[in-house]
Amino acid sequence: MLLFEAREQVVHYGKELVRRGLASGSFGNVSMYIPEGKVLVISPSGMEYERVTPADVVVLTEDDVQLEGSRKPSSEIELHRALYRSRPDVLAVVHTHSPYATTMACMGKPLRPLHYAAGYAGGEVPCIPYVPFGTAELAEAAARGMGTAHNAVLLGGHGLVAVGADLSFAMDVAEQMEFLAQICWRCEVAGGGIPLRDVHVAQAAAALKGYRQKP
Ligand SMILES: [Zn+2]
Repeated sequence: MLLFEAREQVVHYGKELVRRGLASGSFGNVSMYIPEGKVLVISPSGMEYERVTPADVVVLTEDDVQLEGSRKPSSEIELHRALYRSRPDVLAVVHTHSPYATTMACMGKPLRPLHYAAGYAGGEVPCIPYVPFGTAELAEAAARGMGTAHNAVLLGGHGLVAVGADLSFAMDVAEQMEFLAQICWRCEVAGGGIPLRDVHVAQAAAALKGYRQKP
């Protein structure tokens, strides 16, 4: 089986989505890009994460040739591809419909940097207007919304996309954005919240990077 280790990671982090309360059933998807072979390794469409095995994970070339297996790739494959195309630093993508991030996305509101967890995203997380799911238009809009340096974007009326240099980081970004979204929603309800200054968000981003690098 090609790329067994990468497939195992996709299976592991797919289950992590459910374990961390970021997805239920088959909603949400994860992928990795392997620059050496220019291949995309992505979760299959419409399968409950608990049932997915490495053999179900889909491996595709840049031209969408499926190298092995008969499973269909995630319906949001264009979304994943657009992010890898626009950001060479991105090697992993996690897409969720986690409850608080999706609540904010349905309100059309960005995630303000009210807590230093915003450092994981690189600052305020924008929210793009609704674009029909599973389309190339959504993929392009999400890549534009993510920009050149941020690690997360809200998809209006839909959910969240988080990225990183590996699946471990992209998953942490998704989890921290769900936490930040809960804080933002609570502050919204309470009528307050004080955004951190840019310099403090930048300090948090640098500190979190150092924290993650410790063994
Ligand atoms: Zn979705």
